[in-house]
Amino acid sequence: MSRVPPFHSSKMNTRRVYHDNAYCGEGQNIDPASRKAGTGGLPRCIRCAELPADNRPVTAKGNPPQKK
Ligand SMILES: [Zn+2]
Repeated sequence: MSRVPPFHSSKMNTRRVYHDNAYCGEGQNIDPASRKAGTGGLPRCIRCAELPADNRPVTAKGNPPQKK
């Protein structure tokens, strides 16, 4: 799973977005000291939105994995 609880940086000199994907490099670059849990009322990071929600490769839309 690469999806993580929303977090954002409390620093004002960073892009004002929240992250929720463990693979987002921008999210990884947030200093742990300034990392805050939650969305902070900020828009979602576009990179997090583009990254897949899990480790599986992106497949054709409309064909979600079947649950047993
Ligand atoms: Zn992000």
